[in-house]
Amino acid sequence: MSSCAQLMQACVKQLEAAGIEDALLNARELVGKAMQTDCRSIEFDMKLKQQADSSVQTQVENLCKRRIQGEPLQYIIGEWEFYGLPFKVGKGVLIPRQDTETVVETVLRKAPVDKPLTIIDLCAGSGCIAVALEKHLECEKVYAVEKSMQAMDYLRQNISLNNSRVIAVQGDVTDEQTLNRFDTADIIVSNPPYLTKEDMQALQKEVSFEPESALFGGDDGLDFYTTIIRLWKTRLRQGGMMAFEIGIDMQDEVMTMLVRHGFENVRAVKDACGIFRCVTGFKK
Ligand code: GLN
Repeated sequence: MSSCAQLMQACVKQLEAAGIEDALLNARELVGKAMQTDCRSIEFDMKLKQQADSSVQTQVENLCKRRIQGEPLQYIIGEWEFYGLPFKVGKGVLIPRQDTETVVETVLRKAPVDKPLTIIDLCAGSGCIAVALEKHLECEKVYAVEKSMQAMDYLRQNISLNNSRVIAVQGDVTDEQTLNRFDTADIIVSNPPYLTKEDMQALQKEVSFEPESALFGGDDGLDFYTTIIRLWKTRLRQGGMMAFEIGIDMQDEVMTMLVRHGFENVRAVKDACGIFRCVTGFKK
Protein backbone atom coordinates (compact mmCIF):
# COMPACT_ATOMS: atom_id res chain seq x y z
CA MET A 1 0.00 0.00 0.00
CA SER A 2 1.21 3.50 -0.71
CA SER A 3 0.92 6.68 1.29
CA CYS A 4 -1.09 9.59 -0.07
CA ALA A 5 2.21 11.42 -0.59
CA GLN A 6 3.47 8.60 -2.80
CA LEU A 7 0.23 8.67 -4.79
CA MET A 8 0.74 12.36 -5.26
CA GLN A 9 4.29 11.89 -6.50
CA ALA A 10 3.11 9.30 -9.00
CA CYS A 11 0.41 11.70 -10.13
CA VAL A 12 2.96 14.52 -10.60
CA LYS A 13 5.10 12.24 -12.76
CA GLN A 14 2.19 11.21 -14.96
CA LEU A 15 1.02 14.80 -15.39
CA GLU A 16 4.52 15.97 -16.22
CA ALA A 17 4.95 13.17 -18.75
CA ALA A 18 1.68 14.29 -20.37
CA GLY A 19 3.02 17.84 -20.64
CA ILE A 20 0.58 19.38 -18.14
CA GLU A 21 1.89 22.70 -16.83
CA ASP A 22 2.06 23.19 -13.06
CA ALA A 23 1.97 19.44 -12.47
CA LEU A 24 2.52 19.75 -8.72
CA LEU A 25 -0.32 22.22 -8.23
CA ASN A 26 -2.60 20.04 -10.33
CA ALA A 27 -1.62 16.91 -8.42
CA ARG A 28 -2.22 18.55 -5.04
CA GLU A 29 -5.69 19.63 -6.15
CA LEU A 30 -6.53 16.17 -7.54
CA VAL A 31 -5.26 14.28 -4.51
CA GLY A 32 -7.04 16.76 -2.23
CA LYS A 33 -10.25 16.11 -4.14
CA ALA A 34 -9.80 12.33 -3.76
CA MET A 35 -9.05 12.71 -0.05
CA GLN A 36 -11.93 15.17 0.36
CA THR A 37 -9.50 17.56 2.04
CA ASP A 38 -8.73 21.11 0.95
CA CYS A 39 -5.19 20.95 -0.42
CA ARG A 40 -4.51 24.44 0.88
CA SER A 41 -5.16 23.45 4.50
CA ILE A 42 -2.45 22.41 6.99
CA GLU A 43 -4.48 19.28 7.61
CA PHE A 44 -3.82 18.22 4.02
CA ASP A 45 -0.05 18.05 4.40
CA MET A 46 -0.46 16.06 7.60
CA LYS A 47 -2.90 13.61 6.01
CA LEU A 48 -0.53 13.06 3.08
CA LYS A 49 1.66 10.89 5.30
CA GLN A 50 -1.18 8.44 5.92
CA GLN A 51 -1.69 5.25 3.98
CA ALA A 52 -4.12 5.73 1.12
CA ASP A 53 -7.05 3.36 1.16
CA SER A 54 -7.97 1.68 -2.08
CA SER A 55 -10.87 4.03 -2.84
CA VAL A 56 -8.59 7.08 -2.60
CA GLN A 57 -6.06 5.33 -4.81
CA THR A 58 -8.67 4.51 -7.48
CA GLN A 59 -10.04 8.04 -7.29
CA VAL A 60 -6.61 9.63 -7.75
CA GLU A 61 -5.96 7.41 -10.74
CA ASN A 62 -9.29 8.36 -12.33
CA LEU A 63 -8.95 12.07 -11.65
CA CYS A 64 -5.40 12.06 -12.97
CA LYS A 65 -6.56 10.30 -16.14
CA ARG A 66 -9.28 12.92 -16.71
CA ARG A 67 -6.75 15.71 -16.30
CA ILE A 68 -4.35 14.04 -18.74
CA GLN A 69 -7.18 13.84 -21.28
CA GLY A 70 -7.34 17.62 -21.10
CA GLU A 71 -10.36 18.19 -18.88
CA PRO A 72 -9.80 21.49 -17.05
CA LEU A 73 -8.66 21.15 -13.45
CA GLN A 74 -11.48 23.47 -12.38
CA TYR A 75 -14.16 21.15 -13.82
CA ILE A 76 -12.62 18.13 -12.12
CA ILE A 77 -12.45 19.91 -8.76
CA GLY A 78 -15.94 21.33 -9.30
CA GLU A 79 -15.29 24.63 -7.59
CA TRP A 80 -12.96 27.56 -8.25
CA GLU A 81 -12.15 30.86 -6.59
CA PHE A 82 -12.88 34.21 -8.17
CA TYR A 83 -12.27 37.53 -6.44
CA GLY A 84 -11.84 35.64 -3.16
CA LEU A 85 -15.23 33.93 -3.47
CA PRO A 86 -16.05 30.27 -4.24
CA PHE A 87 -17.89 29.34 -7.45
CA LYS A 88 -19.22 25.95 -8.50
CA VAL A 89 -18.13 25.06 -12.04
CA GLY A 90 -18.47 22.10 -14.37
CA LYS A 91 -19.42 21.07 -17.87
CA GLY A 92 -21.65 23.68 -19.46
CA VAL A 93 -20.36 26.81 -17.76
CA LEU A 94 -17.36 29.04 -18.47
CA ILE A 95 -14.67 28.84 -15.78
CA PRO A 96 -14.12 32.19 -14.04
CA ARG A 97 -10.81 33.64 -15.25
CA GLN A 98 -8.42 35.86 -13.38
CA ASP A 99 -8.59 38.27 -16.36
CA THR A 100 -12.19 38.93 -15.45
CA GLU A 101 -11.17 40.30 -12.05
CA THR A 102 -10.01 43.37 -14.02
CA VAL A 103 -13.62 44.02 -15.00
CA VAL A 104 -14.79 43.68 -11.41
CA GLU A 105 -12.05 46.00 -10.15
CA THR A 106 -12.77 48.55 -12.86
CA VAL A 107 -16.50 48.59 -12.11
CA LEU A 108 -15.81 48.93 -8.38
CA ARG A 109 -13.50 51.86 -9.05
CA LYS A 110 -15.77 53.70 -11.50
CA ALA A 111 -19.22 52.90 -10.13
CA PRO A 112 -21.37 55.89 -9.30
CA VAL A 113 -21.70 56.07 -5.51
CA ASP A 114 -24.55 58.52 -5.06
CA LYS A 115 -27.17 55.86 -4.29
CA PRO A 116 -27.65 52.09 -3.98
CA LEU A 117 -27.10 50.67 -7.44
CA THR A 118 -29.08 48.59 -9.86
CA ILE A 119 -26.73 46.39 -11.87
CA ILE A 120 -27.39 44.03 -14.77
CA ASP A 121 -24.77 41.42 -15.68
CA LEU A 122 -25.35 40.08 -19.21
CA CYS A 123 -24.10 36.62 -20.24
CA ALA A 124 -23.54 35.98 -16.55
CA GLY A 125 -22.42 32.32 -16.73
CA SER A 126 -21.28 31.15 -13.30
CA GLY A 127 -22.35 34.53 -11.92
CA CYS A 128 -18.84 35.45 -10.83
CA ILE A 129 -19.07 39.11 -11.90
CA ALA A 130 -22.57 39.70 -10.53
CA VAL A 131 -21.88 38.03 -7.19
CA ALA A 132 -18.51 39.78 -6.71
CA LEU A 133 -20.09 43.18 -7.46
CA GLU A 134 -23.06 42.52 -5.18
CA LYS A 135 -20.64 41.68 -2.35
CA HIS A 136 -18.58 44.84 -2.77
CA LEU A 137 -21.02 47.58 -3.75
CA GLU A 138 -24.04 49.03 -2.08
CA CYS A 139 -26.73 47.60 -4.33
CA GLU A 140 -30.43 47.98 -4.70
CA LYS A 141 -30.77 45.09 -7.15
CA VAL A 142 -28.31 42.97 -9.10
CA TYR A 143 -29.58 40.89 -12.01
CA ALA A 144 -27.61 38.15 -13.75
CA VAL A 145 -28.94 37.27 -17.20
CA GLU A 146 -27.97 33.94 -18.74
CA LYS A 147 -29.31 32.00 -21.71
CA SER A 148 -28.03 28.47 -21.15
CA MET A 149 -30.06 26.28 -18.80
CA GLN A 150 -26.93 24.38 -17.83
CA ALA A 151 -25.13 27.58 -16.87
CA MET A 152 -28.27 28.81 -15.06
CA ASP A 153 -28.00 25.83 -12.79
CA TYR A 154 -24.47 26.84 -11.73
CA LEU A 155 -25.51 30.48 -11.50
CA ARG A 156 -28.27 29.62 -9.02
CA GLN A 157 -25.98 27.38 -7.00
CA ASN A 158 -23.36 30.11 -6.82
CA ILE A 159 -25.85 32.72 -5.68
CA SER A 160 -26.87 30.54 -2.74
CA LEU A 161 -23.32 29.32 -2.04
CA ASN A 162 -22.29 32.96 -1.58
CA ASN A 163 -25.46 34.04 0.23
CA SER A 164 -25.88 36.59 -2.49
CA ARG A 165 -28.92 38.70 -3.33
CA VAL A 166 -28.25 38.44 -7.08
CA ILE A 167 -31.40 37.67 -9.06
CA ALA A 168 -30.90 35.05 -11.79
CA VAL A 169 -32.85 35.72 -14.99
CA GLN A 170 -33.00 33.19 -17.79
CA GLY A 171 -32.95 34.93 -21.15
CA ASP A 172 -31.15 35.63 -24.40
CA VAL A 173 -29.47 39.05 -24.21
CA THR A 174 -29.73 39.45 -27.98
CA ASP A 175 -33.52 39.09 -27.88
CA GLU A 176 -35.52 42.32 -27.41
CA GLN A 177 -38.06 40.42 -25.34
CA THR A 178 -35.42 40.02 -22.65
CA LEU A 179 -34.84 43.73 -22.22
CA ASN A 180 -38.51 44.44 -21.90
CA ARG A 181 -38.32 42.68 -18.54
CA PHE A 182 -36.00 45.36 -17.11
CA ASP A 183 -36.22 48.95 -15.89
CA THR A 184 -33.19 51.15 -16.30
CA ALA A 185 -30.00 50.26 -14.45
CA ASP A 186 -27.02 52.25 -13.17
CA ILE A 187 -24.50 49.74 -14.46
CA ILE A 188 -24.65 47.17 -17.24
CA VAL A 189 -21.67 44.84 -17.25
CA SER A 190 -20.84 41.92 -19.51
CA ASN A 191 -18.16 39.39 -20.29
CA PRO A 192 -19.77 38.16 -23.50
CA PRO A 193 -18.44 35.43 -25.79
CA TYR A 194 -15.72 37.14 -27.83
CA LEU A 195 -13.47 34.53 -29.42
CA THR A 196 -13.13 34.85 -33.20
CA LYS A 197 -13.59 32.10 -35.75
CA GLU A 198 -9.82 31.84 -35.93
CA ASP A 199 -9.49 31.62 -32.13
CA MET A 200 -12.05 28.81 -32.07
CA GLN A 201 -9.94 26.78 -34.46
CA ALA A 202 -6.90 27.09 -32.22
CA LEU A 203 -8.40 26.48 -28.80
CA GLN A 204 -6.21 25.20 -26.02
CA LYS A 205 -7.23 21.62 -25.19
CA GLU A 206 -8.72 22.64 -21.83
CA VAL A 207 -10.78 25.48 -23.32
CA SER A 208 -12.33 23.11 -25.86
CA PHE A 209 -14.11 21.45 -22.91
CA GLU A 210 -15.94 24.72 -22.19
CA PRO A 211 -19.23 25.61 -23.89
CA GLU A 212 -18.81 27.04 -27.37
CA SER A 213 -21.80 29.29 -26.72
CA ALA A 214 -19.82 31.02 -23.95
CA LEU A 215 -16.76 31.53 -26.14
CA PHE A 216 -17.64 32.21 -29.76
CA GLY A 217 -18.47 35.81 -30.56
CA GLY A 218 -18.96 35.53 -34.34
CA ASP A 219 -16.36 35.67 -37.12
CA ASP A 220 -14.61 38.75 -35.74
CA GLY A 221 -15.62 38.07 -32.10
CA LEU A 222 -17.55 41.34 -31.89
CA ASP A 223 -21.17 40.23 -32.42
CA PHE A 224 -22.24 40.51 -28.80
CA TYR A 225 -20.75 43.97 -28.28
CA THR A 226 -22.62 45.27 -31.32
CA THR A 227 -25.95 43.86 -30.20
CA ILE A 228 -25.60 44.52 -26.47
CA ILE A 229 -24.68 48.18 -26.97
CA ARG A 230 -27.49 48.78 -29.45
CA LEU A 231 -30.19 47.08 -27.40
CA TRP A 232 -29.16 47.57 -23.80
CA LYS A 233 -28.19 51.27 -23.89
CA THR A 234 -31.95 51.81 -23.64
CA ARG A 235 -31.84 50.10 -20.24
CA LEU A 236 -29.13 52.37 -18.85
CA ARG A 237 -30.00 55.55 -16.98
CA GLN A 238 -28.38 58.83 -17.97
CA GLY A 239 -24.89 58.85 -16.45
CA GLY A 240 -25.00 55.07 -16.12
CA MET A 241 -21.99 52.95 -16.98
CA MET A 242 -21.56 50.16 -19.49
CA ALA A 243 -18.52 47.92 -18.83
CA PHE A 244 -17.23 45.06 -20.94
CA GLU A 245 -14.53 42.48 -20.77
CA ILE A 246 -12.87 42.39 -24.19
CA GLY A 247 -10.61 40.02 -26.08
CA ILE A 248 -7.05 40.89 -27.04
CA ASP A 249 -6.84 43.94 -29.33
CA MET A 250 -10.57 44.62 -29.36
CA GLN A 251 -10.32 47.92 -27.48
CA ASP A 252 -10.43 50.21 -30.54
CA GLU A 253 -13.49 48.56 -32.07
CA VAL A 254 -15.47 48.35 -28.83
CA MET A 255 -14.57 51.91 -27.80
CA THR A 256 -15.59 53.17 -31.24
CA MET A 257 -18.95 51.41 -30.96
CA LEU A 258 -19.63 53.05 -27.59
CA VAL A 259 -18.66 56.49 -28.89
CA ARG A 260 -20.90 56.05 -31.96
CA HIS A 261 -23.79 55.21 -29.67
CA GLY A 262 -23.26 58.47 -27.81
CA PHE A 263 -21.33 57.24 -24.77
CA GLU A 264 -18.80 59.56 -23.16
CA ASN A 265 -15.67 59.11 -21.08
CA VAL A 266 -15.01 55.92 -23.03
CA ARG A 267 -11.86 54.23 -21.75
CA ALA A 268 -9.93 50.97 -21.98
CA VAL A 269 -8.28 49.45 -18.91
CA LYS A 270 -5.34 47.02 -18.86
CA ASP A 271 -5.13 43.80 -16.87
CA ALA A 272 -2.15 42.75 -14.72
CA CYS A 273 -0.35 41.49 -17.86
CA GLY A 274 -0.64 44.88 -19.55
CA ILE A 275 -3.34 43.74 -21.99
CA PHE A 276 -6.39 45.94 -22.55
CA ARG A 277 -9.07 43.81 -20.92
CA CYS A 278 -11.95 46.11 -20.08
CA VAL A 279 -13.78 48.94 -21.84
CA THR A 280 -16.11 51.35 -20.06
CA GLY A 281 -18.33 54.21 -21.14
CA PHE A 282 -21.00 56.42 -19.60
CA LYS A 283 -24.37 57.21 -21.12
CA LYS A 284 -24.82 60.91 -21.91
N1 GLN B 1 -11.29 34.65 -21.84
C1 GLN B 1 -11.81 33.48 -22.45
C2 GLN B 1 -10.72 32.73 -23.17
O1 GLN B 1 -9.72 33.31 -23.53
C3 GLN B 1 -12.92 33.81 -23.40
C4 GLN B 1 -14.11 34.19 -22.65
C5 GLN B 1 -15.06 34.94 -23.46
O2 GLN B 1 -15.22 34.72 -24.66
N2 GLN B 1 -15.71 35.85 -22.83
O3 GLN B 1 -10.81 31.55 -23.37
